[in-house]
Amino acid sequence: MKRTLVAQTAKVVGEKVRLCGWVDSKRDHGKVTFIDLRDRSGKIQVVGVGKLGELGSEDVVEIIGKVKERPEKLVNPKMVTGKVELEVEEYKILSKSDELPIPVEGDGLDIDEKLRIKYRYLDLRRERMAKNIRLRSKVTQFIRNYLCEEDFVEIETPILTKTTPEGARDFLVPARLQRGKFYALPQSPQQYKQLLMVAGMERYFQFARCFRDEDARADRAYGEFTQLDMELSFVDQEDILQLIEKMFTKMVKELLPEKKISQSPWPRLTHKEAMEKYRTDKPDLRKDKNDPNELAFSWTLDFPLFVKQSEEDYFHGSGKAKFAPSHHMFTAPHPEDISLLDKDPMKVRGLQHDLVLNGFEVGGGSIRIHQAEIQKKVFDLIGFSEKQKEEFEHLLKAFSYGVPPHGGIAPGLDRILMVLLGEPSLREVMAFPNLTSGKIAIMDAPSKATEEQLKELGIKTTEKRKKKD
Ligand code: ASP
Repeated sequence: MKRTLVAQTAKVVGEKVRLCGWVDSKRDHGKVTFIDLRDRSGKIQVVGVGKLGELGSEDVVEIIGKVKERPEKLVNPKMVTGKVELEVEEYKILSKSDELPIPVEGDGLDIDEKLRIKYRYLDLRRERMAKNIRLRSKVTQFIRNYLCEEDFVEIETPILTKTTPEGARDFLVPARLQRGKFYALPQSPQQYKQLLMVAGMERYFQFARCFRDEDARADRAYGEFTQLDMELSFVDQEDILQLIEKMFTKMVKELLPEKKISQSPWPRLTHKEAMEKYRTDKPDLRKDKNDPNELAFSWTLDFPLFVKQSEEDYFHGSGKAKFAPSHHMFTAPHPEDISLLDKDPMKVRGLQHDLVLNGFEVGGGSIRIHQAEIQKKVFDLIGFSEKQKEEFEHLLKAFSYGVPPHGGIAPGLDRILMVLLGEPSLREVMAFPNLTSGKIAIMDAPSKATEEQLKELGIKTTEKRKKKD
């Protein structure tokens, strides 16, 4: 007998069906046992007369029975299947469940997060989490369809690669075939996407996994996160802003109809205006901050191209040069300010655009430098040594073979979802996030390498860390 999904039962009243799922809850009333059966589509009340008594919470079962309309006064308007119930004829336990280490009902926010992440496969049974992960899939599907319609090409770029500095610490992977050398995991596919413009792809996107060895904060995941990475040729900043604004506006309308965007077109502020008026470059422009359905998108533009360099500027690591890129070193200076590069670099504005939503920076991008002389000048200003410049020779070389003017943006997928759903942290919209300590709880990673593995890689470890968590 073919399986019927719980949500379809309302349409087949009077018919005999086979349902499969988990025992969500159970109520014993003497001879009659009620359970709520849960599958991916929803829950339904199942009635067992002299049956089901042996079932426990979260057991996996298969039930064959008749769909019946519930008596008027027992209709549950809160459930899609609230008008019907299933009367059991026969059933089979497919798998018993031990007592769960964490409850899966409720929003789960009061449970120790370490436990929730250790037992993520249970935590994801929670209605709120399941909804978040399913919405995430709808969002990526929407974006993929939208961009493909707009003539974009989806292209994957390597994970084992070389550093592309975005201002964070790199994750390194030892290269067995070239002892003593390391790959860096990409902080973003920045160089690849620019090379794809040289390749003539013109419109690229990818849901790109990015790796940055930085400490976690509520709005910054430890280790890895996902960006909607995009790059376009023969465009100006206006084209990029409009594309993003149209796409997300349509997405909110289709996928989150209960939300309302507070101002359209989205307000645009220069960095200077934002700092003067709101003392931040990511102002929260909601009219009513208590309204969970209000979405205030805005753009922050005209950032200074450089900020003062500090010791923490990992793109360089020395903190000895005066200037660090405010965005990254491939961002183009404002055409009107090019002459200031020699005279007064801190006054140069960059063609950077930051996307802001309810006070969070949810994306950033820029028009890129496509002239080798300007790129070299920026390298000098941020204090690159000759050796560091050599590391980017391939990009400048590529640019010598006919590079279109280009620019892009990379909205953070996790961040946008977190804000759209009003969740308190990025981890609430990720299926398998790390703990803030960088531990991947389910797999207990990172873990020690064996002596043989280290020997093959030519690596000796000097420090044994004490076990935390
Ligand atoms: N690569 C940049 C980032 O990761 C975004 C961009 O410039 O397109 O923030």
